[in-house]
Amino acid sequence: MNRRKTTQIKVGNIYIGSEHDIVIQSMNNTKTEDIDATIKQLLQLEKAGCQMGRITIPTMEAAKAVKEIKKEINIPIVGDIHFDYKMALAAVENGIDKIRINPGNIGGKEKTRAVIEACKKAAIPIRIGVNSGSLEREIVNKYHGVTADGMVESMLKFVDYFREENFDQLILSLKASDVMLMVEAYRKIKDKCNFPLHLGVTEAGSYRTGTIKSSVGLGILLAEGIGDTIRVSLTGDVDQEIFVAKEILKALKLRSGGINIISCPTCGRTNLDLAGIVDDVENRLEKLDIKTNLNVAIMGCAVNGPGEAKEADIGLAGGKGEAIIFEKGKIIRKVDESIAADTLIEEIQKLAATRQ
Ligand code: SF4
Repeated sequence: MNRRKTTQIKVGNIYIGSEHDIVIQSMNNTKTEDIDATIKQLLQLEKAGCQMGRITIPTMEAAKAVKEIKKEINIPIVGDIHFDYKMALAAVENGIDKIRINPGNIGGKEKTRAVIEACKKAAIPIRIGVNSGSLEREIVNKYHGVTADGMVESMLKFVDYFREENFDQLILSLKASDVMLMVEAYRKIKDKCNFPLHLGVTEAGSYRTGTIKSSVGLGILLAEGIGDTIRVSLTGDVDQEIFVAKEILKALKLRSGGINIISCPTCGRTNLDLAGIVDDVENRLEKLDIKTNLNVAIMGCAVNGPGEAKEADIGLAGGKGEAIIFEKGKIIRKVDESIAADTLIEEIQKLAATRQ
C-alpha cells in the first residue's frame, strides 16, 4: 500500500509520519487531576498496545498533574486543550509531549501565538484538531452547513497561521461523527499539505456501532494510504478501542505479528457452543499478547472445518461434545468440548514458542 508522503513528527519517544508504522492512540476517561487513576488507565492502555495517550487538561491542577503522570508511564502523552490557552502553557511547562488544540476556540491569534511559542521552546508538536461539530460560524454560513470543504478551509486557514509563525511541527485531524463527511474531509486535505494526519470518527458510539463506523471510515482512508495515526472512539472500556484499532490495522495488513482468528459462521452441522469457544479463546489470546504471526481457525465441524481452514497454522473443529485440534489441516489431538478452548490455547502457545 502506498502511503501518502508526509513530514516526520517526533512525539516523545516515537515518530509519526509516512516513513513509520501507523500509531494507535487513545484517550483517558479519567479526571486528569486524579493522578493515580490517570496513571492506572494509561498503564492499562499501554499494556493493551496503545502507543500514545491523550488526557484532558481543563484545570491548572490537571496541567500540574502532567509532571507526576509522566514519571510513571512510558508512552508519550498529549494534552487536550479547549478554550483556555493558559492550560496549554502550563501543560507544556509540566512536560506534556504534544498539545492538541482547535485554534478556533482558543481565543484568537495572540493566544494561539503564545501556545506556539511555548511548544517551539519545548520542541514539542501540536495537533490542530478541526471537528465538524465546532466549525466556525462564518464557515458554516459560507458553505450553508457543515461540509468537508468548510472543514478543509478552516484547517488550511489555521495551517497558514502556524506557517506564518514558522511552526511546522504539526499533525492535523478533521474528525466528524458522520463517517462519509470525515472521509471526504481527509481526502480533500491530503494533497493540500504534507503534514501527518490523525484519523478518527468522533462520537462513533458503542462498542458495536462505533466499531463498525470506525472500521468503515478509517478502513477506507487507510486503504487509500491516508492516515499516520488513528484513534477508535468508543463509549465504554478504553481497552476495546485498542483492540479494534489493532484489528483494523491487521485486516489492512498495516500491522504484522500476532494472532489472526478465523472462525466459521456455524450452520446446521455445528454441535458445540462455537461462539462461546471463539469468545473465550479470543479474550484469552488478547491477554497473552502472542507476537508470533499465527492464523488460528475455529470451525464448527470436522466435516468441512480442517479443509476450509487448511491455510490456518492451527485450529479447532467441533464434533458432538468434542473437538479436534489440527495443525495445517492435520489432526493432532481429539478432546472433550469442555477442554477444547484450553487445549487449543495450549497448542497455540507451544506452536508460537517453536516459531519464535
Ligand atoms: Fe458449517 Fe462446518 Fe462450515 Fe462451520 S465449518 S459453517 S459448521 S460446514
